Order: sequence, then structure tokens, then C-alpha cells
Amino acid sequence: MSSTRFNTRLLHWFDQHGRKDLPWQHPITPYRVWVSEIMLQQTQVDTVIPYFERFMKRFPSVDALAGAPLDEVLHLWTGLGYYARARNLHKCAQAVVAQFGGEFPAEADTLAQLPGIGRSTAAAIASIAFNQPSAILDGNVKRVLARHGAIAGWPGRTEVAERLWRQAEDYMPLERCRDYTQAIMDLGATLCTRSKPRCKDCPVQADCQAFAEGNPAAYPGSKPKKPKPVRQAYLLILQTPEGKVFLQQRPESGIWGGLWSLPELDVAKDPKAHAQQHYGPVDSVQSWTSLRHSFSHYHFDIHPVHIVLAQTHSGVREQPQAAWLDLRESMKIGLAAPIKALLARLQPAHPQQQMLAL
Ligand code: SF4
Repeated sequence: MSSTRFNTRLLHWFDQHGRKDLPWQHPITPYRVWVSEIMLQQTQVDTVIPYFERFMKRFPSVDALAGAPLDEVLHLWTGLGYYARARNLHKCAQAVVAQFGGEFPAEADTLAQLPGIGRSTAAAIASIAFNQPSAILDGNVKRVLARHGAIAGWPGRTEVAERLWRQAEDYMPLERCRDYTQAIMDLGATLCTRSKPRCKDCPVQADCQAFAEGNPAAYPGSKPKKPKPVRQAYLLILQTPEGKVFLQQRPESGIWGGLWSLPELDVAKDPKAHAQQHYGPVDSVQSWTSLRHSFSHYHFDIHPVHIVLAQTHSGVREQPQAAWLDLRESMKIGLAAPIKALLARLQPAHPQQQMLAL
């Protein structure tokens, strides 16, 4: 279907169902449209309405706002959040007064040069206040267009954003620009909602590709999660000929804080040579199957190495926060979960692991 049909259907729907009684629509002025657009960023219409009304009462014009102390502007903004918006609003009002004699410019490109006005907000002011054919691409519109055209991918990615902007511009009519901008925002806010879109009532359902796929919720794509870094280490299961295991208590802060664990060794080092150097002659060395333990901010790939020493070690502590313990004792102290699982493998019934060539 052509773009003409998309916007024609949308405008027809707007005439019947669009929102036409919002406070910033009566009257529509560049100043009121601008303030409402800034307030509506990251904020719902219902929340914005009382703030907008109080704001207009106190600052009825761009000159009034430009001349007010910033503290007063921030005071009236209290509760709306994202206070950089209020600071930029004040700065922008002063720029409009200083550079344009208190009259907002009508072109989106010029508006976008002003503090706190991005490309989509500039287009919203140009189209709603000046009836210019400037396409917007706010969160609601991204969702509608991504679904309608089945434009996959996260809109934060340049190529996805470019496709969405192209689509937004392609659908923008040359007439009734104000109504069209309001219509596409209303469609996203009332029908093509984030969850449970009401597709059966949608004026552009006939050629909506996400609807045809039966999967509107897949659009727009979400922000890709950063893969967690992976840390690797040997964990040495050092055992005396009598079966005592060497354990160390971890510092209070950091991972497994205060719990007992096995000595760690850098994977670049040789576990057998390390054991010989620090704990005496070695009888046998076995590598066990590696395991991954995931923390909130990284994965820990554990490579357990079971080393049986040729000499006995006493049960007394050889270092502060370290001890040779028999298996039964070790199971009674606070062990990190993967360490407990590893020590459980030392029970006599447990199958032996593959020999490590060291
Ligand atoms: Fe959104 Fe559904 Fe309309 Fe497609 S048909 S644009 S998914 S409301």
C-alpha cells in the first residue's frame, strides 16, 4: 500500500478518534506546543496536564519564562523528573528571546539548534505549531512504524533509526501536517501500545506487517544486552594423602565475601609447578570438568584441578584465614556454592575425572 493511503487512513481515524481536547491544543501556539513537547518526553500525558496548566499560569509567554529565575522554573518542575529538561527549557526561552525576538522559528532545522530541542521535538513544534511537513520520530511513532513496516532491530542503532526516519518522512503528508503528527502520536499512545496493541481497531492494520506476522510485540527490537565478561581461573583442590583439603577464607568484601573457598591460580600458570613450590611434592594431578558460575557482572569459568600431595600437612592453620580440613569438617563451614559442589565430588563414591597432562 502506498504512503498516501497510510496517512489518509490515519487522518480519517484521527477525525473520529484523535485527542482534540488536550490543554496545549487550546490554543495552539509555538510556545505552548514547545513546553508540552518537552514535558511529554519520558512522561505520560495524564501526569503532564496539571504541570502544564500550572506552568502556563505562572509563565504565560516565552518572555515571562525567559525573565524568571531558574529556581522558580525548577520549583514548578518538581515531580516531573529529568531536571535537565527544565534547565534547558529556561535556557531555550532566553535564546528565543535573545536570538529571535521572542518568536519561535518555524523551521525544524532552526528549532533543532536551540537548547534541549532534538530532531523529533523540533519537527513536532514545526508541524503542530506551524503546520510544516516535518516528520517526528518519538517513542510512540518508532513503535508504530517499526511494527507497520516490520522494521527489525533496536532503534538506538543508526541503520534502524535511519530506516525509521525514512519511513516517517515518506508517510508525512504535505497537508494537514499538524493533524497527521497528532494522529500518529495518538495511534501509538492509544492503540499501538507497548503491550496488548488493539490491532482490531487500528486504521492501518490492513497492511501492518507485524500484525500479518502475528507478532507486534517483537517490534521495535530491544537494546542488545552487553555480553558479560568472562574471568577464568584454576581452582586448586589440594589434598593431603589422608584426605585433608586446603581452604582459604575470602575477604569480607568482594565475591563470596567471608565464605571459604579453594586457592585460585591464574590459567597462564602451571598448577603442578605451583603446588610443588608452595605445598611440597605432588603425587597426582587431575583436571576436572570446567564449570561456569555467573555473577551479576561477569561469568567465572572455573577449571578445577585436583592435586594429591605426597606429604602430609597438619590440621593447624598455616596462613591467617586458611586451613587444612578433613572433608566432613569442610562441609560444616560457610562454603561458596560451587566450592561445596566440587568438594562433594571428593566423596569416595564419586567417579574420577580425566587425567590432565601436566
Ligand atoms: Fe500497531 Fe496493531 Fe496497528 Fe500494526 S495493526 S500498527 S501492530 S495497532
